[in-house]
Amino acid sequence: MKIEDVVCTFCGCLCDDLVVEVDGRRVVSVENGCTLANEKFMGDHRLQSPIRRNGKGWEHISYDDAIRETAEILCDADRPILYGWSGTHGEAQSIGIHLAELLGALVDNTSTVCHGPSILAIQEVGHPGCTLGQVKNRADVVVYWGTNPIDAHPRHMSRYTTFADGFFLKEAFRDRRLIVVDVRKTESANIADEFITIEPGGDYAVLSALRAIVRGKREIIPPSVSGVSREQLFRVADLLLSAKFGAIFFGLGLTMSPGKYKNVRNAIELTEELSRHTKYTISPMRGHWNVYGSNEVFTWITGYPYAVDFARGIAFYNPGETTSVDVLRRKECDACLVVGSDPGAHFPKACAEHLARIPTIQIDPHTNATTHLSRIQIPVAVTGIDAEGTAYRMDGVPIRTRMLFKGEYPSDTEILERLYTLVKEAKGP
Ligand code: SF4
Repeated sequence: MKIEDVVCTFCGCLCDDLVVEVDGRRVVSVENGCTLANEKFMGDHRLQSPIRRNGKGWEHISYDDAIRETAEILCDADRPILYGWSGTHGEAQSIGIHLAELLGALVDNTSTVCHGPSILAIQEVGHPGCTLGQVKNRADVVVYWGTNPIDAHPRHMSRYTTFADGFFLKEAFRDRRLIVVDVRKTESANIADEFITIEPGGDYAVLSALRAIVRGKREIIPPSVSGVSREQLFRVADLLLSAKFGAIFFGLGLTMSPGKYKNVRNAIELTEELSRHTKYTISPMRGHWNVYGSNEVFTWITGYPYAVDFARGIAFYNPGETTSVDVLRRKECDACLVVGSDPGAHFPKACAEHLARIPTIQIDPHTNATTHLSRIQIPVAVTGIDAEGTAYRMDGVPIRTRMLFKGEYPSDTEILERLYTLVKEAKGP
């Protein structure tokens, strides 16, 4: 059976035009997907049943035992963390937050190690963003700053920017100008009209120089700014100003380099500066397919987008204090539930070591680096293949993912609902 308009649940592009052929409980072909999507849909490396660590290795256990033991660990903990959430659907995220409130736990999502600084900057100066549809139809100058879409979001250029014809751009590849800014030459840089190589940590200075040029202060620019010549800065500023509609996209190269949220704030202020002359927008390149959704769901339930601490009985948010990396580094946490993410692969070593010391439970369809730190792992259905739910694309547009067949695994929502019920019973009225 061929199913059309399937949503790919891999990266923040959430491409919704895949055609997937299904034979029973197996995906046999994928059309329109990139290589990452093919691997996601065709890969067949799922964990078969819940596993628990015993003295010698792993033993298979039932879902009932795995969920009961998880509930006991979380109820016994003084300072549990519920972490992850960007690799699951909004309905499961919502239960996770209510579970955190019940437990007095800290609930945090993967923004803490990706676009958390973008959110802090947006809280300070706002977000002049737009949908990807606007970019596709209108943008004649596109900037990728600290991001390499050809590798990380392989269809971003073909669906929304360089290779995508739009309503006002009939021949996109010829009509759009592309600027790439990075610390090294990437594949995306190879097709740019203008590639700016900046010295690592030089983003803030280069953004400031461009703001000054756009403000008309060319005379104050030194011969070189963070490895970028004055001549190139002038050329790039002129190119930016030539746009009828410009779109700036930025990635972790900006959010996680020295300056962090101040870099993003400066980029937003450059966007506003450019918008005094023409129209500009700026958008983060969100990585996990529903990390934007985790920020949305966290915010509409608790008022805060990530790092929400219920230890005081109310939602408390103070990044740097209540972010999971900081709590783990201080060794405060004594149990951790990981849902839809892989902190074992992405967290600093000291945090991963602490996760290995405390009881860590992972809810995930596949084994990964976090499995090696975990005491229990509970496999679940994959959203977009054998489970469905709501996700938010990187531009904040909610998209309903589809279930292609009914599989044998429970969804994240089902597992979390059962966990919530057990914890509620244990905590009493
Ligand atoms: S670009 Fe991202 S969402 Fe689109 S098909 Fe590739 S992995 Fe999936």
